[in-house]
This record gives sequence, structure tokens and C-alpha cells, in this order.
Amino acid sequence: MSEPSSPKPLRPLLSVTNPMSSQYDTILYLVRQTTGAALVQIQIDGMPPEPVPADLQCLQAPLIHQGQRIGVLRAYGRDFVDGAAHLLAGFAVLVVEQHALWSVAQLDMLTGAMTRRAFMSELGNAVATWSRSGTPCSLISFDLDHFKAINDTYGHGAGDKVLRTVARMVRSELRPCDRLGRLGGEEFGVLVIADASAALDIAERLRAMVEGTSLRDHPEITFTSSFGVATCGEAAETRDALIAASDARLYEAKTSGRNRVVGAPGLVSAAAFG
Ligand code: GH3
Ligand code: MG
Ligand code: MG
Repeated sequence: MSEPSSPKPLRPLLSVTNPMSSQYDTILYLVRQTTGAALVQIQIDGMPPEPVPADLQCLQAPLIHQGQRIGVLRAYGRDFVDGAAHLLAGFAVLVVEQHALWSVAQLDMLTGAMTRRAFMSELGNAVATWSRSGTPCSLISFDLDHFKAINDTYGHGAGDKVLRTVARMVRSELRPCDRLGRLGGEEFGVLVIADASAALDIAERLRAMVEGTSLRDHPEITFTSSFGVATCGEAAETRDALIAASDARLYEAKTSGRNRVVGAPGLVSAAAFG
């Protein structure tokens, strides 16, 4: 598999993060003050729907980023000022700018993956959701094999290209609800809403994809990656224990030969034979 000729735009740029409600506090305050709204909501598409208050009139303005709708700004009230809809449309532009800045701040500059800090926060949320509602949550950790040798042989710039390419290819394999984070130099984490068996299959697919990827302008560079997979309930009950478990399995994948996936004991990936 070689690099796609026209790289896709950064798909998850505006869907990658859960907005923190406090980040919009000032805008929401100004909307209330200027429009006469009693309640203002920001609904980002793909996020759980906000409750709709009964008996109130609703004004809404779409949130548009680069020509695409990413959500809606809603104002609820009984007594809006004249021109409130126009004001709301102006505030919608501010919300989009704020959201874009917030999203970019959570992305690693080189690879476009989430920063370690942002990824850890999402992972913590996913583990909390698992313990509350049983929604499955697995962590796939992977680390490029003998990456130092790529830098030493082909130069740091080529190494950077490998990191960028691997991150882009992995992102293109993931569903919108999955997350890719750069945890360290050439180590990444993938958070998947998947049980142990499904996560193992995803990891095996990623392993095969990395192995089959090459750089268009450096086809001579080959690379592989080792993977550790751990699942809430199966391997750990807390975020930090989940990280420790997937790290331990990644280490096992390294010491047992590299370019392989280690998951829950006894599980065999169907993808490995597919
Ligand atoms: P292993 O298979 O055991 O993981 O071996 P390795 O060579 O991949 O691991 P090691 O930890 O020895 O080396 C990691 C290298 O990754 C060393 C470091 O210079 C390089 N690295 C870390 N961050 C970056 C980066 O942003 N760009 C480039 N080009 N190299 C990086
Ligand atoms: Mg490595
Ligand atoms: Mg490493």
C-alpha cells in the first residue's frame, strides 16, 4: 500500500474533541445578555443531544466551518429583542472560531493526532462511561519498530514523514468515534469503543496496514509497528491500569519479535488469518 496521492483533509479536526462547556461561558453569557434569551445551548453534531426545554420559543443559527455544518447554536426564551436572530448568527461565527481554536490546540503539530494530554482526558472519559454504563472501551498502544534506525539511516526528516504517514493512514482506518493520540515520540494510542475481540481485530488490521505502507518519495524505507491491546473489564478497571496493561502487552509484542499484536491471553484475532 502506498501513500494516497491526494491526502485527505484533516477529517477529525472539528469532531475530535468534546468541547468543554466552560470554554464557551463568555459567548453564552453575551448571547443571553444581548438577545434576551433565558437559555442558550451549543450543540456540536455527533455529541449527545442537549435536552430541549418545553414552553420556550427557540431561535437557532447553524455552526458552519469551511462550508460544512458542525452543529447549531440555540437560544430559548419568551421575550427576544428585535434582531435577536441576526445577533445569534453573529455569535455562531464566534462559537465556530472558538471551537476550531480549541480543536487545533489539542492536536499534535507533526502528526495531527491528539496530544497526549487531550488523549488522556478522552481516555478517562471513556473509562468512566464504561464503568457507568458498560459501553466497551479498549486501548490499543503501538510503537514503531526500530525507528531510531530509520532516523539514523535516512535522516530525521524521513523519520518525521513516516510518523505523519502512519498517523494519517491509521486515522483513515478508524471510525469517527475512535481516537488517535500521540503518546510519545514514535508511540501512539488508539481509543476504540470496542470489546477485547473487536479491538484485537482492529489492531491486527492496523499492524498489517503499517507493514504495507510506504512513502511515495522514499519507497525504500520499510517500517513495522508493535501493538498492545487492553480492554476495560478484561484487563483493567481504571484509566491508568488500562494504560499499564496495554503498555505491558506492547512490551511483550516487542520482546517476542516485533511487528505483532498482543491482546488478552487466549484471544486470537480473526483478522490475522483474513
Ligand atoms: P523499538 O523497536 O524497541 O521501539 O526501537 P526504537 O528504535 O523504535 O526505539 P528507541 O526508543 O530506541 O528510539 C526511538 C527513536 O524515535 C529515537 C528518537 O530520536 C525518535 N523520535 C522520537 N520522536 C521523534 C520525532 O518527532 N521525529 C523523528 N524523526 N524521530 C523521533
Ligand atoms: Mg520504537
Ligand atoms: Mg518508543
